[in-house]
Amino acid sequence: MIIAERKPMQEILGMTAGMKKVLVLGCRGCVAVCSAGGDKEVSILSSALRLGRKMSGEKIEVLEETYVRQCDPEYLEPLRESGKDYDAVISMACGVGVNFIADCCRGVRVLPGVNTTFYGANLSSGEWKEMCAGCGSCVLHLTGGLCPVARCAKSLSNGPCGGSVGGKCEINPDVPCVWQGIYDKLTYLRQEQNLREITPIRDWRPAGHGGPRRRIREDLLS
Ligand code: SF4
Ligand code: SF4
Repeated sequence: MIIAERKPMQEILGMTAGMKKVLVLGCRGCVAVCSAGGDKEVSILSSALRLGRKMSGEKIEVLEETYVRQCDPEYLEPLRESGKDYDAVISMACGVGVNFIADCCRGVRVLPGVNTTFYGANLSSGEWKEMCAGCGSCVLHLTGGLCPVARCAKSLSNGPCGGSVGGKCEINPDVPCVWQGIYDKLTYLRQEQNLREITPIRDWRPAGHGGPRRRIREDLLS
């Protein structure tokens, strides 16, 4: 899922300075699952915003709402008109939701309420780890299912580098070297031959380095 975390309160107070009426808009997708932008977080941010403004002696009207998703036009329909009633809509969705509102709802000023961080998995309650970088050209069939793009500090296609020591990455002794993990996994699976073949230089265009990406499924087009 997409992992996000709420922006610092001071930053949100700063971006809403002088505003009299805002909508805090949550999303029940990934950001709800990672406890950054669902119903509960909308309520917490709204209260903090009211309190922050009260403490500085300024009034603000804060309304709260949560959509099923902010990355799907059918759910944004009501916002096209109602959004104009607010000085701003603070989107608690990931950056996709904020962008999509900006694209779809002309006249609506949308602000990001969270920092979108990575695609990750939930390790345990309150702990998430990056697992994929959306590179558009997956190589997990060659690496025992472990991602060298997102999980190697240098995104090496052929590793490990010379900084790998005792199974740890040179950036931090607490960070496992994923290439050590790939080696161990492929050895265990008896797929060591994958390690002997040099992976060619990666074409980063599918990763977004060639401009914004788009996917079209002709069979689903209406
Ligand atoms: S190789 Fe690319 S698509 Fe596959 S998990 Fe890694 S970043 Fe994601
Ligand atoms: S030590 Fe391992 S994880 Fe760290 S940069 Fe080198 S190959 Fe990548």
